[in-house]
Amino acid sequence: MADYLISGGTGYVPEDGLTAQQLFANADGLTYNDFLILPGFIDFIADEVDLTSALTRKITLKTPLISSPMDTVTEADMAIAMALMGGIGFIHHNCTPEFQANEVRKVKKFEQGFITDPVVLSPSHTVGDVLEAKIRHGFSGIPITETGTMGSKLVGIVTSRDIDFLAEKDHTTLLSEVMTPRMELVVAPAGVTLKEANEILQRSKKGKLPIVNDRDELVAIIARTDLKKNRDYPLASKDSHKQLLCGAAVGTREDDKYRLDLLTQAGADVIVLDSSQGNSVYQIAMVHYIKQKYPHLQVIGGNVVTAAQAKNLVDAGVDGLRVGMGCGSICITQEVMACGRPQGTAVYKVAEYARRFGVPVIADGGIQTVGHVVKALALGASTVMMGSLLAATTEAPGEYFFSDGVRLKKYRGMGSLDAMEKSSSSQKRYFSEGDKVKIAQGVSGSIQDKGSIQKFVPYLIAGIQHGCQDIGARSLSVLRSMMYSGELKFEKRTMSAQIEGGVHSLHSFEKRLY
Ligand code: IMP
Repeated sequence: MADYLISGGTGYVPEDGLTAQQLFANADGLTYNDFLILPGFIDFIADEVDLTSALTRKITLKTPLISSPMDTVTEADMAIAMALMGGIGFIHHNCTPEFQANEVRKVKKFEQGFITDPVVLSPSHTVGDVLEAKIRHGFSGIPITETGTMGSKLVGIVTSRDIDFLAEKDHTTLLSEVMTPRMELVVAPAGVTLKEANEILQRSKKGKLPIVNDRDELVAIIARTDLKKNRDYPLASKDSHKQLLCGAAVGTREDDKYRLDLLTQAGADVIVLDSSQGNSVYQIAMVHYIKQKYPHLQVIGGNVVTAAQAKNLVDAGVDGLRVGMGCGSICITQEVMACGRPQGTAVYKVAEYARRFGVPVIADGGIQTVGHVVKALALGASTVMMGSLLAATTEAPGEYFFSDGVRLKKYRGMGSLDAMEKSSSSQKRYFSEGDKVKIAQGVSGSIQDKGSIQKFVPYLIAGIQHGCQDIGARSLSVLRSMMYSGELKFEKRTMSAQIEGGVHSLHSFEKRLY
């Protein structure tokens, strides 16, 4: 293809567009909407675009997508799904250290098909309890153990067949009277492979297969419906033991050291120091502490938006930087604190500085569309962190609710009063722990049901690949080197250019993205 260009070429092409350096040369701060990337030359298909990118000095992901450590975005379900699709999730810390560590443990212990934290009841629970669990969790094959918890002796199972024909008044019947007892159950020993378990389920024609250890204690169950849904995840982010990668957030106070110990014991691979202004003596001291106590643990510092802020954290020894101040969808930091920076400029300035030291940058917040992801990566970010884009998905924490007939989930800033009232962790991020008056830096709101990220993330991946294809970059490393060499060209967008670039002149339209 390159030969065709040379032999068929018509000679001189005038310089067009701005290099990234020129785009950010004057003092105006630019958001993702303030510029576009000029298209390049396509000689490959979009599917071939390699999205491998560094999260930290030592961790590389096949998908440059991260879910934010927010209590309405990332707990174990989100972190598992993100890691399966090649990204990573950071478990939030607006909870007790024990709860957070347990979420990390669920991710690290995750094995496709094996459910390690199912609803479990005891023989002294009632049929009413089963019906309630069915309403809340949508299933009815419930294992019964002596104490009603995992890790206790298996004594039976209750399925819908055991309770379907009971009369209304029988809701108080004890499960010990209706359950299928242990001796009639088909079980499999701990250590069984998914393939073997599948064969046992097919032979026994049962819906659920309890997995027990040599003391007959319940350690997991396998559901036939899950096995049917099983698919391959070739991009999955895994450690050397083939367990999914998991990140977690901590603050920088004395009691965060205890939290850190629990998180490392649970197997967290990477820690993000969660602060809206990371350039502080507290954060530098915490980086030194972690590096000394856990030399192999990857540490991401932030948030920063200038090279000067980044310098102190790079000097302290961080393995990655989180960039963004005031650009988040739920954020009122710029309004209240007068500090911050438009996100395009922040990402470019910090990434351009940090790359000299081999420190990758996460573009955090303000991502509204897949085009914004491409822009963030084209400005030097190695990965992109999202809150609102992943909120209100099936995997996000929280229950759906209806308002005016619309199905919604809550999404709130970790610096909102709503979140700060829940625990002291998010107060620490926003520096108002000891303050007499709490200063909110975020709002609390809701987002419409988006379905599962199992569909949404593949859309994002394909969108980034198509963006790179239009640019003419076969991989994210090519994209970054095109930008730093000046080959990648940008153009500023006036207000009218932005209006032209959106849908316009229609009476009505439906915007379906995938
Ligand atoms: P979003 O993707 O635009 O919704 O932004 C998410 C990001 O906003 C998070 O990853 C945090 O960096 C940031 N953030 C979370 N909570 C708050 C808050 O209360 N105030 C300001 N920024 C926040």
